[in-house]
This record gives sequence, C-alpha cells and structure tokens, in this order.
Amino acid sequence: MALKGLDYFKFTPKTNCKECGCPTCMAFSMKVAQGGTTIDKCPHIKPEDLAKLSEASAPPMKKFTVGAGKAEFSLGGETVLFRHEKTFVSKCLYGVNVTGDNVDTVLEDAKKVDYVRIGERMFCEVVNVEFTGDKGKFLDAVKKAAAAERVVILDCTDVGAAKEAVELCKAGKPILNGANESNFADMSKIATDAGVLLGVRAESLDALYDTVQKIEAAGNKNLVLDVGTKSIKDAFANAVEIRRTALNPKGGDRSFGYPSIVNLSKISGGNHECEVGLASIFTLKYGSIIIMSGLDYAAALPLYGLRQNIFTDPQKPMRVEPGIYPINGADENSICATTVDFALTYFIASGEFERSGVPVNLIISDAGGYSVLTAWAAGKLTAGSIAKFIKEKCEDKCKNKTLILPGKVAVLKGELEEALEGWKIIVGTNEAVGIVKFIKDLTA
Ligand code: SF4
Repeated sequence: MALKGLDYFKFTPKTNCKECGCPTCMAFSMKVAQGGTTIDKCPHIKPEDLAKLSEASAPPMKKFTVGAGKAEFSLGGETVLFRHEKTFVSKCLYGVNVTGDNVDTVLEDAKKVDYVRIGERMFCEVVNVEFTGDKGKFLDAVKKAAAAERVVILDCTDVGAAKEAVELCKAGKPILNGANESNFADMSKIATDAGVLLGVRAESLDALYDTVQKIEAAGNKNLVLDVGTKSIKDAFANAVEIRRTALNPKGGDRSFGYPSIVNLSKISGGNHECEVGLASIFTLKYGSIIIMSGLDYAAALPLYGLRQNIFTDPQKPMRVEPGIYPINGADENSICATTVDFALTYFIASGEFERSGVPVNLIISDAGGYSVLTAWAAGKLTAGSIAKFIKEKCEDKCKNKTLILPGKVAVLKGELEEALEGWKIIVGTNEAVGIVKFIKDLTA
C-alpha cells in the first residue's frame, strides 16, 4: 500500500531546515507521498529508515532504460491504470518482427517511416529478431538489426544462440526475451552478465508469475514480461491482468511490476489491418513494447498520433515550436500568415494552407499553447506579442510584408498595424475551412 505524507513525516527530524528545497518537513513529506520528489532528498533521515522508506516509496512498476544513442527510451515506471488519474510515465514503443529470412526487406520498409510530429520523432523504435532455428541466419539478422540504430529484442529461447547474440549487440542495451520455465537460470545469467533486460514468458499467467518469482529470488529484477502468443484474447487478458496486479490501488504485487512485450505478428494471423487495430488496443492497455510484422505510413500515422495523445500530460497543452513554417515551397517573397502554437490549430491551419497550393510563410509565435480565442482571452495572443516575435525573428526573413491575421482576432488589426510599421495586415477567415478559397482569391 502506498505510504501517505504522515508516514514519511514521522521519519523526518521536524527541524524545517529547508535543505530539501521544501519550506517544512511536512511539505516535503506530502511531496514525497505525491511522487513529486524522493525521500533521499532529506539528508537527515537515518540510513536504516531511508532504506525502508525508499523501498516503500519506489514506483510499483519498475522503470528501465533500453537502447542507446538515438534509440534510447524509458520503459515502465507507471503508477496508475488510467490516464485521467495521472500522466503515464513511459510511452509505448512500436517495433517490427524480423527473421533471418526477411530482415533486409522488413527493415528497409520500416526505415521509410520517419517523421516529426509536434516536436517528436516518429519512427520504428524496436526491432524484434526472432530465432527460427537457424543460428547463423539469426546472428546475421541480429547484426543487421543492431546496425539499424533501434532497440533490439533478441526473441530466442535457445541458450547458446542467445549468448552469442547478446555478445554481438550488448553495447546497444538490447532486451533478451528468452527466459521460460525451463531455461530461466541460464538466460538470467546471460542477461545479468551483459547488463541487459531479460524478457520472461510462460505457458500461463500462473507459470509466468512463478518463473518471475524464481528469477527475482536469484537476484535479477531487471525484467520485461511477454504477454504470450496463444491467442489475441489470451494476450490481451494477460496484459490487463499483469498491469492490474502490479498497480492495484489497494496494494500492488511487484512480481508483476514490470513493463510488457506483446508480439502481434504472432497472433494476428498475418492480417495487417487486424494487427494495426490490435496495436491501437495494446497502446491503450497495456503494451509497453508492441511488435508488428511491418510498419508503413498507413499504420504509423494513426498509431503514433494515438500514442502522442495518450502519453502526454493532459494538463500541458500540446504545442509546436514558435518559428516560421514555409508551406508549399514558400520563400522570403511569399505572403505571411499567423496563428497560435496550439498543435491542433497549427495542424488544421497548415493543412488548409497546404491544400491551397499557395506558398505561405506561417508565422507561429508563443501563445501559451492555447487555441486562438483562448490565447487572446488569456492575454497570450496580443498585437504586442505578435509584433515582438515578427520584429525579432521575421523582419529580415520575410520581404513580403503582408500578414494574414486569424479572423477571430480581427480586433488586433489596428494595434498590429501601429506596432508593425511597413506591414499590411489582412484579416483572414474565422474558420480554417475557408482558408483555401480566401488565400487563392487573395493571391489570384
Ligand atoms: S531537509 Fe529534512 S529536516 Fe530539513 S526541512 Fe527537509 S525534510 Fe525537514
């Protein structure tokens, strides 16, 4: 059961010395209970109490880092079952399944999916290399996957092949997903020696629990749980049960407090559309790593968009970076338009400008991440803020000094004309749907 503020307070010296950054010991204790800081930030708690409290205040689900370089990600660390309770900690990762026979084509196709959305790189983050019995081909595929700068999962229950494969790619912090009821001791040793995470699988959830407990008892708590490949129903039930068991608000069981792997390529029956639908379900509940048989733009666009909506802090607006966004090959002589940095507004407006085919420089200033009217009402979108941004960032980059203002803030026109000497301000449409006709008529 999670400790409360008073439980921590009992162990502080109550001197209110402020060394932890909090004004009082009580404030510090409350912050620890809410997960805002860690108990070790108070240097005055006795070491024996600190050890007890650190264990009790650790997240019910372990958090790890996998991969390296451009493909380094966090896994796990979740504290709640539902996003409306609190922000999820680690986004799920998407990957492709390869074997020695198809590694080149699957990797080549997956590499084509690579784009940026709201400041986040969207690409195939994981390569699951499946051992199909031929060690030579498997090791060859592992080398190719390791060179692709993705997190590599070694999907292999053969101890000999796993050992050689880990040696080939351990610098990239792969996951060895190969421990089962019969080989877990050997696999755990290989993973521990190489300092990599160990994936555990079993015939049933009970057997998985028992195997995890045996591995933990041997001292390895760096685990990932494979939800199984018996059937879609079984994998989904396992994913939900594992997470519920770990994060039960009445007291979770930490033997299931690990991230999960779900390999859809083994349960979707070769139906790619079904696989993408399942990937969206496991994005919601509760796949930490979701493997598919392949990844293309048709699958990636909805999946990554969904993930970006689920694994963000609902209290923080999604925003795009302030700047000048040239659309349809716009250059310094192209007409300018402006709107707010709220991601949804940006994508709708930029999409309509793109549809018009007219080259436009879309100028995005810092408006607090709010929609047009909200930003204006909150004083985040003013003639002053737009003018300041344009003077600082755009004056020498935009020779065409015609600026289209969102229709909903037409009230700013006069003030903006005064603040931006030499600029012609044109009031645009109230709704994005009118942008195409408006800009075409304007530039005809
Ligand atoms: S550092 Fe420790 S003793 Fe000092 S205020 Fe913080 S909790 Fe209290």
